[in-house]
Amino acid sequence: MKAKLTDGREIPIEMHKVRVIQRTQLPPVGQRLQAIEEAGYNTFLLRSRDLFLDMLTDSGTNAMSDNQLASMMVSDDAYAGGESYYKLGEAVRDVFGCEYYVPVHQGRAAEHLLAKIFVKPGHAVPMNYHFTTTKAHFEMAGGKVYEIYFEEALQTSSSNPFKGNLNPDRLLDLIREYGRDKISFVRMEATTNLIGGQPFSLANLKEVRRICSQHDIPVVIDCSLISENAYLINRREAAYANSSIGDIVREIIDQADLVYLSGRKSTCVRGGLMATRHKEYFDQLKAWLPVYEGFITYGGMSSKEIEAMAVGLREMTDYNVASSSPDLIEYFVDQMTSRGIPAVTPPGGLAGHVDAMKFLPHIPQSQYPAGCLAAALYLVSGARGMERGTISMDRDAEGRDVFSDLELCRLAVPRRVYSCAHMEYVADRLAWLHKHRDLVGGLEFYEEPPVLRFFTGRLRALNNWSRKLADAFIADFGEGA
Ligand SMILES: *Cc1c(COP(=O)(O)O)cnc(C)c1O
Repeated sequence: MKAKLTDGREIPIEMHKVRVIQRTQLPPVGQRLQAIEEAGYNTFLLRSRDLFLDMLTDSGTNAMSDNQLASMMVSDDAYAGGESYYKLGEAVRDVFGCEYYVPVHQGRAAEHLLAKIFVKPGHAVPMNYHFTTTKAHFEMAGGKVYEIYFEEALQTSSSNPFKGNLNPDRLLDLIREYGRDKISFVRMEATTNLIGGQPFSLANLKEVRRICSQHDIPVVIDCSLISENAYLINRREAAYANSSIGDIVREIIDQADLVYLSGRKSTCVRGGLMATRHKEYFDQLKAWLPVYEGFITYGGMSSKEIEAMAVGLREMTDYNVASSSPDLIEYFVDQMTSRGIPAVTPPGGLAGHVDAMKFLPHIPQSQYPAGCLAAALYLVSGARGMERGTISMDRDAEGRDVFSDLELCRLAVPRRVYSCAHMEYVADRLAWLHKHRDLVGGLEFYEEPPVLRFFTGRLRALNNWSRKLADAFIADFGEGA
């Protein structure tokens, strides 16, 4: 929700009040230098005690509501047949209109089961864009991921409202090339995480649905950020300007054969969910659930989180809930662009993103500009973002780096956690860093896991650039800042 001020400005305004808080602290720059060095310049390896603002991810870090917390107190821990599972079922039917559902321990568990059931060696899996865990699971099953977006999806400075759209012509090409039997399904991701949280439009989704129906190919939607995508449809797609978030969510789900989500995002809990209208898909999922997740009525989740997910599913259709993080992100992106920082535009659904190749044009992709930017920003602000670039890609079979389409430093804005002042602070420190960008240098791996290396890999700063950057920062702000 936005409030219009007397001078014409619009600001995001919180439609909730804060009644429980968690303290944070700003560790001085010397401590931050030591912490990032010890973390191998990988922001995943920093500890909470060394952070001021944790903008690594919106995963599991959104603020829960009082009603969600209250629901956790009445959860049913029965191993089998727990009532919490059935309450979740009512919410899935009411919000998604799907009869069949299974809880899973988180989003990637759903991707694992999808890969197990649908993806066979030699298959193609077309999608609007991949997500790291999605690609890992589908490729480990022998599939090939095709990202068939429109060219503009990769232009970081743009006014295209729907950079998350899938290109239907390229889908038809793939169907011709592979044949229906070698396409596992088409996957649409609500607000494409890796290219700036960009939404798809309902018009595009319906076109994808039409083509898939013609060729009898299932449509799978990754709904992790469906309420944010629905809100951006409401704002940007004229035909839905007067639709409620709940109606838009329902219309999105109606286009799918199967949907899954990481409950850690839109529903503000720790868990995952798969839902479908087709009994045959449910039967296949059900068979694998006890092997990988748990009995069907808890699926690896705690019963408390299942209760809270049921409430979270309903709450995410509330306009004030769905709009809360996109509105703050828009404010954050405006704060950045007005200071000349190359932020991804238009603003998207889960984070503010900075184009590291534009921010640090002197750092080649082989030295990981997005990783450098995330580490440097932490050093000068205490705010922790995440690398979404080449470090987030694994090497090819010959051991060469696979250069990412984009090098982004992602600054997640978890729902109902941070304020406008926090956003201004980060934009200001980014502006300082931009002015001193020549001091930022490259990174190289010295510890590198073979799969999803971005989580736990460690790198070193070339030519000791971090010390020089810290010295310049101290000269302007003092040791205590
Ligand atoms: C977070 C996320 C996942 C993976 O979910 P986890 O709960 O982290 O396992 C998959 N897809 C998208 C779009 C996500 O944002």
